[in-house]
Amino acid sequence: MADLIVKCARCRYPHRETERIGRPTELGDVLACPRCGAHSYYDMTPQVAWCWASGLIEWGDQGQEPEGSIVIARGPKCSLKSILNVVARHGFQNGVLLVPGVPEADDQRGAADALDQWLSWCASTSHEDVVFVTPPEKALGGAAA
Ligand SMILES: [Zn+2]
Repeated sequence: MADLIVKCARCRYPHRETERIGRPTELGDVLACPRCGAHSYYDMTPQVAWCWASGLIEWGDQGQEPEGSIVIARGPKCSLKSILNVVARHGFQNGVLLVPGVPEADDQRGAADALDQWLSWCASTSHEDVVFVTPPEKALGGAAA
């Protein structure tokens, strides 16, 4: 398994999962922060969010961007999805996130304008360690990059 990059939820110390130290608790041994001993941590695995011409937003590990999609944001696993949940529009289907204005755009140009506008708005406010990509980048397919 990959050695996760994590950040302590208490002291914010960034470290690798394999550096965590075993500590006995009433629930059995748990892995803890090597600096302060806290149990909770954030998963800092770098992830990428992309969208499709339909406005549908998806995300995955870095390098998984599908060809033909548009890269819109990058950030650690612990915050990328929750930030997108705040700034994107929720579809009728549970868990579906959309770029506001793109599904109802009259043509491709209107959709591109709506995407640019939304990304500029997202980028203008602070979202922890999530970075919105302005202007958006065309994904060339994961492995090739
Ligand atoms: Zn700590």
